[in-house]
Amino acid sequence: MRTLIYIMYLKSIELTGFKSFAKKSELTFSSPISAIVGPNGSGKSNIAEAFSFVLGEQSIKSLRGKKGEDLIWNGSTDSPRAGRASVKVVFDNSTYFLPLDYETVTVERVVHRDSVNEYIINSSQVRLRDVVELLASAHIGSSGHHIISQGEADRILNSSGKERKSMIEDALGLKMYQYKKQESERKLEKTRENIVQVESLRREISPHIKFLKKQVEKVEKSLQMKQELEAKALEYCNREDKYVKRTEERLTREKNPLIQKERELHYELEKAKAVLEMAKHKDEKSSKLIELEKSLHELRDEKDNLFREAGRLDGEITAFVRMVKKQEEVEHLDAHKTVTLASVEILREQITAKIQSAKNLDDISSILKIFDEVTGLLSDFVDNNKNKIDNSLIADVQKDIENLKSEKKRIEKSLQEVKRKEGELSHQYSQLKSAIEKEKDSNRDAEKAVFRIMAESQEVRSGLQIIRREEETLHLVREDFKRELSELGMMLGAHFLQFNNLSFDYDEPRINQEERRRAIEKIKIRLEEVGGAGGADVLKEYTEASERDTFLEKELADLEQSANSLTELILDLDTRLSTEFKLGIEKINTQFKEFFALMFGGGEAKLSVTVPVKRKKKDTDDLFEKSEDEIEEELALRNLDEAGEEGIDIEVNLPKKKVKGLMMLSGGERALTSIALLFALSQVNPPPFIILDETDAALDEANSKKYADMVENLSKFSQLIVITHNRETMSRAGILYGVTMGMGGGSKLLSVSFDTAVAVAK
Ligand code: ATP
Repeated sequence: MRTLIYIMYLKSIELTGFKSFAKKSELTFSSPISAIVGPNGSGKSNIAEAFSFVLGEQSIKSLRGKKGEDLIWNGSTDSPRAGRASVKVVFDNSTYFLPLDYETVTVERVVHRDSVNEYIINSSQVRLRDVVELLASAHIGSSGHHIISQGEADRILNSSGKERKSMIEDALGLKMYQYKKQESERKLEKTRENIVQVESLRREISPHIKFLKKQVEKVEKSLQMKQELEAKALEYCNREDKYVKRTEERLTREKNPLIQKERELHYELEKAKAVLEMAKHKDEKSSKLIELEKSLHELRDEKDNLFREAGRLDGEITAFVRMVKKQEEVEHLDAHKTVTLASVEILREQITAKIQSAKNLDDISSILKIFDEVTGLLSDFVDNNKNKIDNSLIADVQKDIENLKSEKKRIEKSLQEVKRKEGELSHQYSQLKSAIEKEKDSNRDAEKAVFRIMAESQEVRSGLQIIRREEETLHLVREDFKRELSELGMMLGAHFLQFNNLSFDYDEPRINQEERRRAIEKIKIRLEEVGGAGGADVLKEYTEASERDTFLEKELADLEQSANSLTELILDLDTRLSTEFKLGIEKINTQFKEFFALMFGGGEAKLSVTVPVKRKKKDTDDLFEKSEDEIEEELALRNLDEAGEEGIDIEVNLPKKKVKGLMMLSGGERALTSIALLFALSQVNPPPFIILDETDAALDEANSKKYADMVENLSKFSQLIVITHNRETMSRAGILYGVTMGMGGGSKLLSVSFDTAVAVAK
């Protein structure tokens, strides 16, 4: 009756498409010892390998394959080949021996034909590392100290000192520390690389920062100078601006009246010139005057003649009037009466005509009648001439008088006309004369004016000339100022162009501005010398670069800090590893010694830590030519790691035999020694399960019994899965699985009874 409560962590394993297990096959491990039995080549070892595989074994070779594909069911006449191989192992985690918050933990590994591996913990895809770390915490490490493959019972004996050490560390549960240490070392290395990188980065940027710093100093200096320049330029420009404006105003003020005056003078001059121009026509006037004088003279002569003529006519008229009066007195006497010859001739013609007509007549009466008629003519003639007064002379005279009177009237009219003309001419004359007199006066005035105008014009002109010169100078000043302003604007920025906001006392000598200008020029030259262009950019770049440097500095400090703590951690882990390792070795040795003595019925065995010494290159091929001691030394040296790392040496002392070296042991002795060591290891720090694949193959009956006892004893601490052909071993198992090879070449699994198992195993 078992009184112990066995802790069973391993619940089951499930193989699908893994090696010879074409179909899903599950083995549950409900007993502390489970045995797997079956004929050669049925696939038992494949189950042991399935454990290694699912726990993360990376060496395909140790799984008896060349590539991942070799682990996948390859197909048979019955069953086609599989696309993937998967192994799933289920742990009871109710004690939380695995650091996961699940009562059941399933670890699964799948390999595909393209050699891609998948790792799954409780249905979540994880990395290999996650699997390895999870299992290491439960001492189920990758060194496989708890999975002893077929023919590898003495593996621990054949391994190098370093490998042995690794297996022992794994068995002692120190792998976790190892991982931590490796991890820390990796981190430390990475940190150191980072430190080197950051240092080199800082070294790289340091000259640039220095350069930028200098630039920044320049920029700052130039900024300071710009401020100085701005202050000076502000005063200068304000003053200059006012100076220009005021001078402009003053010049305009002074110029306008002068221009006005010039205009007036010009007008006056034109006037005077016109007057003088008139003087040129003076002779014309004089000759006109002379002409007028002449005309007047002639008119007066004419007037005198007319007067005389009129007097003469008056005398004649008086004489004729008197003559008429005398004639009239004469004519009134008959004796003085007369007939005119003409009237007598008319009478004669009339009588002649009558006589002529009478001569042609035959009739006397008619001739007599004509006589009467002639007598009548003669009587009429006398009567007529008797009463008639002959006025013809008076009439003629009177006619003459009339003529004279009209003549006189005409002359009087002419006289009037002459008088009018005279009046007119003498008016013209007096006017012309007075005009000539007046002209003479104004010429004199004009001449005087011309002189005065000339003098005044000269004055005005020179005044204007002074102003123009000043204007020209002002123009140059303005141009200079404009240029200066645009230069200052470029240097100080556009804001400076609105400089006009200060007021000064502007009355000062111009030389002061000259001095200011010189001072400004000096600053400008110094500014140009200093440079410091692109100030804002440089400042920004410098700030960025130095911020980056500060960041890197801090980063470096952080890195150094973390390197220090990593170094400390590594040291700590080292100490821990070495103390725990030493302690572990002591414990193992106690067990090893006990098991060894039990197996061999006495003798001694012991693990010892080999000291790292640098090995000299020696020809060690032919050991036969060496003494026993030399061989012993040589073998010890072989166990030393080439890099001089610590290793584990195994010393054995068989009872009653003078055999000390491992090399001298028989196959059975080797198997017994390694089993003793494995069991010692397992007992000191029991793994959750141990798989022993035909570890008992080389044992004789007596030793098989001892082996089976030890297995039973060991099962108190670790769950055991034994693959065996050994009857004695089988007899200790609570569960027996039989593996057979089916007709199609696939492994078949069945639960069997002990007897069947014994039969099957054979
Ligand atoms: P022994 O008792 O002799 O050690 P065993 O029972 O341990 O034998 P294993 O070595 O586990 O047998 O099984 C080997 C068998 O598995 C061989 O028949 C081999 O052909 C078969 N096998 C290995 N890999 C595959 C694979 N990928 N596909 C199919 N069968 C495979």
